[in-house]
Order: sequence, then C-alpha cells, then structure tokens
Amino acid sequence: MPACIPAAGTDPISHDDVAGARDADTGGTGLSRRLLMGLGAAGAGSLMMRPAFAAPTADPAAVPDGDRVGFAVVGLGLLSQGQILPGFHNAKRAKLTALVSGHPDKATRLAAKYGVARDAIYTYENYDRIVDDPRIQVVYIVLPNAMHAEFTIRALKAGKHVLCEKPMATSVADAEAMIAAAKAADRKLMIAYRCHYEPLNLAAMRLIRSGKLGKPRMVVTQMGRQASLSDPADVWRLDMKMSGGGALADMGIYGINGARYLLNEEPVEVRAWAQTDRKDPRFREVEDLIAWQFRFPSGAIANGSTSFDYAPTMSYQVECAQGRLVADPGAFYNGNRLTVQTGYQSQVQAIHEIDQFAREMDWMADVVRGKAPLVSTGEEGLQDMRLMKAILDSVAQGGATVSTAFGYTRAVDPAKAVDVPA
Ligand code: NDP
Repeated sequence: MPACIPAAGTDPISHDDVAGARDADTGGTGLSRRLLMGLGAAGAGSLMMRPAFAAPTADPAAVPDGDRVGFAVVGLGLLSQGQILPGFHNAKRAKLTALVSGHPDKATRLAAKYGVARDAIYTYENYDRIVDDPRIQVVYIVLPNAMHAEFTIRALKAGKHVLCEKPMATSVADAEAMIAAAKAADRKLMIAYRCHYEPLNLAAMRLIRSGKLGKPRMVVTQMGRQASLSDPADVWRLDMKMSGGGALADMGIYGINGARYLLNEEPVEVRAWAQTDRKDPRFREVEDLIAWQFRFPSGAIANGSTSFDYAPTMSYQVECAQGRLVADPGAFYNGNRLTVQTGYQSQVQAIHEIDQFAREMDWMADVVRGKAPLVSTGEEGLQDMRLMKAILDSVAQGGATVSTAFGYTRAVDPAKAVDVPA
C-alpha cells in the first residue's frame, strides 16, 4: 500500500527525514499529511493516526519474552517505521530481534529506539549471515516488490521462516520459486494479507458464510489513492520492473484478494480495461485506472477497480439476495466501518479495532510455534499473482475474456480459522 497522500510540491522533506520524523511524536506537530498518513490510513482526522493499544503484558495471551518468536525486519521504509516496528509493542507472541537495511545510520537509530542489539543489524550484503543468528526465527520482508523473491529465498536458505509483504512478487515465476524454496527448506512462508486477520473483514466473511444475507450475487471493490513522483516510496511503485504493476499491484490486489475471501471461491474468467493518460509523468510505465470483472463458479460477479489517480479509498460492497454489506473504508489501518442492510433496515456493526500488524505478526509467531495453521499461504499469494497477470493480459487484448481457472482452492478459510483477539 501506499505511503501517503502528499500535497504535491508542498512537502520538502526527504525520505530519510521521513524516517526521522516518523519516530517523533506526530500528535499535533503539524507534520505533513504525508508523514501522518502512513497510508492505509488514508482518510481524514482520526483515520490518520496510529491508534494507541493496551500494553501487551496485560494480556493473558502474551507469552514471556523468552518464549516469543524473534523477527528480523528487512527494509526500514514507510511501512516498517510507521506500522511494523511500533506494532511489536502490541504483539504478544512476536518480538523484534534484528533489522536489515541499506542505511546503517537509520538502522542504528531504530535499533536503539526499539531495543535491538547492535550486532543484530544486517545489511543487504551480509544478510546471509542471519543463518548463524538464533535470535531470528522469522524474517519479515518489507522491501520494494521486485526484491521480495530474492530476499525471501535467501532467508529460507538460511533456515528462517518468512513473512513477506504483498504483493508476493512481481512475476508468477518468482512466486513459484519462493514456494519451492520454502518447501525445499521445510520452512513456513506466509504472505502478509493483513485483512485475513482483521475483525471487520472476518465479520464480513462470516456474515456472508452464515447465509443471513442470502446468496451473494455481486461484489464491488474500489482500491486507490493519489500517487506522487515526489514521494520516494511511490517512485518505485510507478516503475513497472520494481512494482510489477502500479496501482494494481499496490492497491488493486486488496480488491482481488477481497472478492475471493468474501465469496470463498475462485474466479474462472476475467475481463479488464485500463484508462491511462501516458502524458501524466506518473504513468509512463504502469497503468493508471484498471477496471476488471471476474466471473465466479457460483454465478457471482466481482467488479473491481484501482487507480493511482483516485481520492483515497479502500472500500467494497457485497450485494446478496436478502441483504447487503458495505465496508467503507474496509481495509484502512484503522477507522474501518461495516454497514449491514437486511431488507430496508441498515445498521453499522460494532467492530473491535486492533493493531493489524501486531495481530498478523502474532499469527505468524503462532504458526512457527505450531499453535495456528498457515492461512495466507504462498499459494494464496501466487493465486493473486496469476490473477493480476490475467488482468494485465486482458487489458493488453482490449478487454478480451481470459481464463483464470488455475485450479487453486484455498486450504484454510480465514473465516473458520482466525479468531478475533480480545
Ligand atoms: P518504502 O519505499 O517506504 O520502503 C522500502 C524500503 O526498502 C526502503 O526504505 C529501503 O529500506 C528498502 N530498499 C532497498 N532497496 C531499495 C530500492 N532499490 N528502492 C527503494 N527502497 C529500497 O516502501 P513501503 O514501506 O511503503 O513498502 C514496502 C513493502 O510493503 C511493499 O512491498 C508494499 O507493497 C508493502 N506494503 C504493504 C502494506 C500493507 O498494508 N500490508 C502497506 C504499505 C506497504 P532501507 O533504507 O532500510 O534499506
């Protein structure tokens, strides 16, 4: 997901300054929206702020420090600094034990802040030495998309489990190689689909599965924001080789994955169209607006759209025979809102807000501890890679129908496996 929504040309702060500023107390400091938004939280007012959560030690689900699973975070950019490193404070079974970065000064400063030992700071060059570091059980890959495959495979070869950010990779072949490497190393590979562990999305899945709304007919997903070439975290996202697909790989993937987990089935064909102004310097390589239509075996249809030239949105609707649900926003870091309508009555559901990153890291820790099943598997990530390729293939053929009957079936339904933490 994106970094933020800069006011074009008004934010003179460099990327490394962002790192520093993000470490500061952001409350009421007048920092730019870019610094505050940390993305997913694209919205106004309270939506911008990372919510405060209770200290983990107060929770019986928390395990003693010595029993926690040690994580190395690779790539200390906006997501790592804005969400993941602070998220360890709220984690109950995961702990931060190492950092990997191309910027030693930044890594040293963050290590001091988050209590990481100086000898647990690695660079991309000496990264393979993690093989000898027993403090690291899981490597969390938070790098530009094109680097996911290489750093995942190196971690697996070093005998570590991997939690890899979405999108899994920039090609189907790379995603397949990552899965093969995990199998060869007999290590776990989890893709960081935080919505699989998030209360609103779990509530939406369960409601649809319950049949209370009747047969699902139509899913509509909108995922987008404004991208900016003045934001270093967007520069690589607008580079096809580094991102693997602009808004589609960054934001649209939430809609693709969302339609699949909401309906709990896989699409059999897709048609897609793009609308891109090639004179806009942001879109020299990647598409801007992409809209697609998936057909599912049940007869349900999912319309999705994504753009890097949208006002910020991560929302969806599901139209069912006897009711409907609206999640708007449905996938921000906080401030999500679920409205359920049956007949002519609609009601906003009470959703227990959590630190999504702490939850996801704890889930990975539980997988490693043998206490939870792997839900967002490498195969789940590969399915989205195949679907994004099918969308781009259809775009290239002017909206031709492309088969997506890849034979994939989700091994574990998040709605059945994932509890909502207290
Ligand atoms: P950033 O650009 O802010 O951070 C990426 C970091 O990777 C950099 O800060 C840098 O860290 C490192 N890096 C190494 N080589 C390069 C390179 N050639 N160009 C740029 N950076 C490099 O990106 P984000 O943190 O926003 O995104 C990282 C990943 O997380 C992406 O895959 C993205 O899709 C995903 N993401 C997921 C979200 C979610 O909600 N699940 C939300 C946001 C992002 P260093 O200086 O330490 O070397």
